[in-house]
Amino acid sequence: MPHRLFFEVHDSSFAERAQSRDIGELHALYLAAHRDGAMPSQAAFDISVLQQYAPFLMRLEPTGTGSYRYAHYGRGIASVADFDMTGKSTADFDGPLRAFFEDTYARAKAEMKALFTVHRAIKSHLVHTWERLVMPVRMECGDTAFIVYNRPRQFEQDFLMALVNVLPDGIIALRTCRQNDGVPFDAHIVSANPASLALLGSPSDSLEGQLLRSAGPVLSSESLWTAVRSAIVQRRKDMVEILANTEELPLYLRFQVTPFLDGALLHIADITALKQANIVLEREKQQLSNEIFRQQSEGDMLRGLAYRDPLTGALNRRGFFAAAGEWGNKHHQRSLVAMDVDHFKQVNDRVGHLIGDAAIQQAGAVLFNMVSQVDGIVGRLGGDEFVCMLPMGLPEAMALIEQARVRIGISPVPSPIGPIALTCSFGLAAWTKGTGIEEALRQADTALYAAKAAGRNQIKQSDGKPAETLSRLLRSGRRN
Ligand code: GH3
Ligand code: MG
Repeated sequence: MPHRLFFEVHDSSFAERAQSRDIGELHALYLAAHRDGAMPSQAAFDISVLQQYAPFLMRLEPTGTGSYRYAHYGRGIASVADFDMTGKSTADFDGPLRAFFEDTYARAKAEMKALFTVHRAIKSHLVHTWERLVMPVRMECGDTAFIVYNRPRQFEQDFLMALVNVLPDGIIALRTCRQNDGVPFDAHIVSANPASLALLGSPSDSLEGQLLRSAGPVLSSESLWTAVRSAIVQRRKDMVEILANTEELPLYLRFQVTPFLDGALLHIADITALKQANIVLEREKQQLSNEIFRQQSEGDMLRGLAYRDPLTGALNRRGFFAAAGEWGNKHHQRSLVAMDVDHFKQVNDRVGHLIGDAAIQQAGAVLFNMVSQVDGIVGRLGGDEFVCMLPMGLPEAMALIEQARVRIGISPVPSPIGPIALTCSFGLAAWTKGTGIEEALRQADTALYAAKAAGRNQIKQSDGKPAETLSRLLRSGRRN
């Protein structure tokens, strides 16, 4: 990533602006040597007489081409800059930095006074910014040289440390401890920021220098060591969540483990709030699904009420027609049956409505038992009349209904005045693709009417001709 440069040049208030106290002191010395408006001579103001500042001093002399040669380059500078410019020149720097240096020297020379500058380091990885005191001096030959005090103002490390120290997350650096054969058995805690101490509940205790696997209950957890070992051995990132505090409030910590040099970095985040929010969310989700289930069940119940006849449990008219669509699509061979209890009014009259109800229930139950075995559907459309859909052609339907007819006939309904014999009449019609269910029902009804007319307790099959309308049947006086 390219460094962004910045440069500042000041010509006053050096002592206040500088970070190093040396700058104010040196400037005072310079001013003292700066007599009668003339620049100090190099002989009077040279590194040899400024011994105590020497490690951070440089002397630059003109090359004659606008650049300056580093005649002296302090050892202190070289050690933090990680390079030595002795014998080299400002021309060895690139574009803007070289221009900044050479412009500053030109200005100091022209104005014949010291300048204070601050600039962003680009060649050194250790130093973030440098501060300089540029002091022009007169050489014996008449040219101008510069005594420059150059000191790191800020180190990169300071910034990084400040960053790590203010982070709310814990950062711990580990170095692997290995057996003779190289197998890792533990890790030394090389560095731990304040947040890691706070999160791990030992703010007064230093973690640094401790072995990970005996550094308290959380850090010594096996799951963390497994992750650390895999980071060390397989150079793989890993993540572990540990419930750190079970006594008081729960504390959930998330450890992100990243390989780092011969060891690993632990990034520790408090995820308790997240976890708790998750728990609340889960609970709410559960409540919601309970509620949905409850509403569904209620809906089913209500639908049940809306679609079923409470006396017999068979589908009512609405339920029967609602079921017809899907059932009809499922079956290719279809028959419809209409069943009506014979002389039912007499049952009511003789033994009352309650027994009458029981009789309807019993006739319906017999029909239902037969029909449900073949995936048919039974509905009670009203009074003592039932209808059913059968997934079969007319001959099979006829055989099945015949069984129902016989069974109803041999199952009398108990009553206080003794068993009441029941019989039913049936009408049968094909429900073909081209025929709507209403038309098929009308045909079955017509056949039922024919069965009644022929003496009851029998089955009649529709001839497939369009049915007589209900109004005609009503006019004929048979229907109620
Ligand atoms: P048919 O052989 O011609 O069918 O003669 P029926 O007497 O059975 O005549 P119909 O089927 O027309 O009469 C049905 C009677 O059923 C009319 C009504 O009083 C009675 N009924 C209708 N619903 C109920 C009910 O839920 N319970 C009882 N007990 N009777 C009912
Ligand atoms: Mg009847």
